[in-house]
Amino acid sequence: MKSTIHLLPDHVANQIAAGEVVQRPASVVKELMENALDANADDIKLIVKDGGKTLIQVVDNGSGMNEIDARMSFERHATSKIAKAEDLFQLNTKGFRGEALASIAAVAHVVLKTKPEQSDLGILLKIEGSKVVVQEPIATNKGTSISVKNLFFNIPARRKFLKSIQVEMRHIMDEFHRLALAHPAISFSLIHNGNTVYQLPKSNLIQRINNIFGGKIKEKLVPVSEETDYIKISGFIGKPEFAKRKRGEQFFFVNKRFVKSAYLNHALISAYEGLIKEKAYPSYFVYFEIDPKHIDVNIHPTKTEIKFDDEPTVYSILKVAAKHSLGQFNLSPSMDFEANPELDVPYEYRKKQPVSPKINVNPDFNPFEEDMFASKNEFKPQYYEKQLQHWDALQHETQELASKINPDDAHDEIFSTPEKFQVSDCFQLDKKYIVAKLSGELLIIHQNRAHSWVLFNTFLKQSTQGKLLPQKLIFPIELSIQKDEINLLKNHKAILEEMGFELHFTTEAIQIEAVPMSQKSLDITSFFQNLIDKLSEDVPMNKSEIQDILLDALAKKAAIKSGQVLEQVEMKTLIEDLFRLENPNFSKDGKKIFVRFNERQISYMF
Ligand code: ADP
Ligand code: MG
Repeated sequence: MKSTIHLLPDHVANQIAAGEVVQRPASVVKELMENALDANADDIKLIVKDGGKTLIQVVDNGSGMNEIDARMSFERHATSKIAKAEDLFQLNTKGFRGEALASIAAVAHVVLKTKPEQSDLGILLKIEGSKVVVQEPIATNKGTSISVKNLFFNIPARRKFLKSIQVEMRHIMDEFHRLALAHPAISFSLIHNGNTVYQLPKSNLIQRINNIFGGKIKEKLVPVSEETDYIKISGFIGKPEFAKRKRGEQFFFVNKRFVKSAYLNHALISAYEGLIKEKAYPSYFVYFEIDPKHIDVNIHPTKTEIKFDDEPTVYSILKVAAKHSLGQFNLSPSMDFEANPELDVPYEYRKKQPVSPKINVNPDFNPFEEDMFASKNEFKPQYYEKQLQHWDALQHETQELASKINPDDAHDEIFSTPEKFQVSDCFQLDKKYIVAKLSGELLIIHQNRAHSWVLFNTFLKQSTQGKLLPQKLIFPIELSIQKDEINLLKNHKAILEEMGFELHFTTEAIQIEAVPMSQKSLDITSFFQNLIDKLSEDVPMNKSEIQDILLDALAKKAAIKSGQVLEQVEMKTLIEDLFRLENPNFSKDGKKIFVRFNERQISYMF
C-alpha cells in the first residue's frame, strides 16, 4: 500500500495554529500588545479601524528587532523568551510559545517596521498569508510597529463569523483594559477610526483605574492588601453598596497577567456574603504576586487560565484579606458608618504562614451520602453533630477576624463567637418559626430559611474541597425544554460537566446521564429550570455561580420545611449552626432569616 502520511506545509500548519491563537481581532490586539510589553516598551499605541476588521496596529518604543530577528519572528516556535523546558517554570514574559506572529501572518496582511536603538536604519517586512512579499531597509523610530490588515482574508468562513464592529470593539476594549490595568506605569493609547478613545498617561494604579473607568470609581473602592511568604495580594475591591446588577469591572491579575478564575471569584465574593444582594456584582481589581514556580500558565493556549500549586491557600488568603479590607474600611452592616477612622483594627494575619483550609477536615464526611437524606427530608440531629466537628481552618480564621474587627460591639460578638452560645429552651410557632432566647434577646427564626442557608454553606464548603463527583444515573433523565433554552445550556456544557453532570443534547431535549451527587437529594428539574431562568437574563455566568444555583437547589430540597415539627434538640442545634455562619442574617435569595428584639425594643412596645 502507498504511504499516506505526510507533513503539512508550514503555511497550512500555521493556519491551523492560528485557529487556536487568533479567534477574533481582540486576540491579535492581545498578542501584539503583549509582545510590546515583553520588548520593554513604556509607551504603547493601539490603532484600530472598523473594530479591527480592517486594521489593527500596535506601535511601541521597545527593544525593536534586527533584520534576522525580524525574519525569524514570523517562524512558528520562534521565540526569544524561552530556550529550554525548565524556563517554563520561571516565566517573566507574557509570550513564550513563539506562535503568535506566525499564526497572525498566516491569516492576514502584516506589515512590520522595527529598529533596535543602536541601528541607524530599521527594517520593513510585508507578509501576506505567510509569504514575505517585501523586505527592505527603512528609516523608522526605535521600537516596533506591526499592522495587521484584513484579518482572515484567506479564510472566508472565519471572516464571516466576525461579529459587528461594536461587538468586536468591545472585545478589543476588554483586552486593552486588562493590559492597561496590569501596567499602570506604562502609557497606553487607543485610537478607533481616527478618534482617540483612551490616552492613558503613566500613573499609579488607582489613577489608572480612574482614567479608564471614569470619575467616581475611586470613591467606590477600598484597598486590599496582604502579604505572606507564598503570595502577595494588592489592589482594590468595591464597596458593597456600589455592587452592580451587571458583572462589570472584575479583574484578577497574577504576576501582571490578567486571569479568569471562577475559584478566586468565589473566594472574593464569599467575603461579601450578607453585605450584598443576590445578583449584585462588586467591582474588583486584585493583583497577585507569586513566585512563577508556584503557577502553571501553560494550561490554556490564550493563557487566561492559571493554576496555583496550592489553590486552597490562595482561596483562604484572598477571602480573609477581602473580609479584612471590607471590615477595616468600616463596611460591615453591623458597624457604625461614621466610626472614627483612627480606630485601628487588630490584625495579626500579615506575614503569618497561611493555613490551608484542608486541615481538620474529615475526609470521610460526605453530606451527599445517600443515608443523610434517605428518609424523606427527615431532620437528622446526628448530621449536625458530625457537621460541628468540621469547621475548617478558614471558617475559624474568618470568624476570629470578624470578632476582632469590632471588639467593642458586644452585641455583635454574641453572634460571632461560638463559645458564648447559650440557647434557651425553644418552642415552635405555627410549625414554621422557632422562638428562642439567645443572650438576652428574643429571636424568631424562620426554620426553613435557616436550615436551607446552613445546608447551602456546608455544601459550598464541600464543593470547594472537590466533593462533587459525577454519579451515573441508572435511568437517565430526559428534560424537554425549548430550543433556545437548549442552546443556553449547551453554551455552559463544559462548566456543567466540570461540576459532574453528564449531558447529552438532542434538538428537542437534554438527557442527563450523570449528576454531581445522588439523585435523591437533588431536584434536577428545578435546578435546570432555575439555571435556565438565570441564563435567560443574559448575564454571563461562571462556574461558581452555576454551582451556587446547584447547591441552592440541593439545600432547598434537603432542608426542613415549614410545617415540620421539630424536637427541642433539633431546634437548638439549628440555632447554633445558624449563628456559627459568618452571615446568619440573610438567605441565599436575600430574605431575612430571623428577627430579634432586645429588652429595650420590647419595653418600647409597652
Ligand atoms: P512569543 O511572544 O511567544 O515569543 P511571538 O510570535 O509573539 O512569540 O513573537 C516572536 C518573537 O518576536 C518574540 O519572542 C520576540 O523576540 C519578537 N517580537 C515580537 N514582537 C516584538 C516587538 N513588538 N518588539 C520586539 N520584539 C518582538
Ligand atoms: Mg508573543
